Amino acid sequence: MSDAQVVTRFAPSPTGFLHIGGARTALFNWLYARGRGGKFLLRIEDTDRARSTPEATEAILRGLDWLGLDHDGEVISQFERADRHAEVAHELLAKGAAYKCFSTQEEIESFREGARAEGRSTLFVSPWRDADAATHPDAPYVVRLKTPTEGQTVIEDEVQGTVTIRNDQLDDMVLLRSDGTPVYMLAVVVDDHDMGVTHVIRGDDHLNNAARQMGIYQAMGWPLPVYAHIPLIHGPDGKKLSKRHGALGADEYQKMGYPAAGMRNYLARLGWSHGDDEFFTDAQAKDWFNLDGIGKAPARFDLKKLEN
Ligand code: GLU
Repeated sequence: MSDAQVVTRFAPSPTGFLHIGGARTALFNWLYARGRGGKFLLRIEDTDRARSTPEATEAILRGLDWLGLDHDGEVISQFERADRHAEVAHELLAKGAAYKCFSTQEEIESFREGARAEGRSTLFVSPWRDADAATHPDAPYVVRLKTPTEGQTVIEDEVQGTVTIRNDQLDDMVLLRSDGTPVYMLAVVVDDHDMGVTHVIRGDDHLNNAARQMGIYQAMGWPLPVYAHIPLIHGPDGKKLSKRHGALGADEYQKMGYPAAGMRNYLARLGWSHGDDEFFTDAQAKDWFNLDGIGKAPARFDLKKLEN
């Protein structure tokens, strides 16, 4: 990957303001790209129509703007690309890497109950997986990815190391719902591929998704991105970040009078280190930032340290 151009992205869901965790993810992606003459793209993951709001998108853009994290190209709306996501699902169907599943919710439930009663895995195995198209009823269906039942999926993660998941622990995930709308997991892969993303740097709450997402890359024959799943941020007490300890919008810190440069420096060191260096210029941060320096343990956000 050393001679190819680096392309990173920040892909927030617009369901609230830009919180500290999101701001740090954005900063890491920005530093990684900017330090390598690469591109930093911005995609708004607005497919959840009930939870996404234009106000949240505005707040995220304001937060990034305050922090000086400029992105390349247009802001991409994931929702607006739904036709393209569905097109890829149909391509997978045509290749035989996906199939139409006509099982109803009741049938799936009764499969699970039976499996539970017999002490078998409750992972749904669709009877339509290898069905002949001639036997297909004229009924609503979902499109499922045909996940290999044997072997394992190995994520070579730049932060987490080698993570192995047995394929028989993954079910045939739904790609298109019965109303034809694409699921989020498909949208992420298609968008990252189409945007030419080479490095996916994001919170480690998405590590499990990576195994599923890799299944789509492999079925399409697309090159995998480099993955780096960063540990979450905890409060100074080691617990989940609370409102008192940083679960605020980035622009709240602006109102509180913190300078953007200080915030950038502080966020850069939240889970990443460069020897004993504590303060650095933007040029140094871009030059020094690498995935090797990201720690495996959750970082701690402590407002007092920001004040020092
Ligand atoms: N939209 C997801 C989030 O806000 C990020 C997904 C990703 O980076 O792949 O958590």
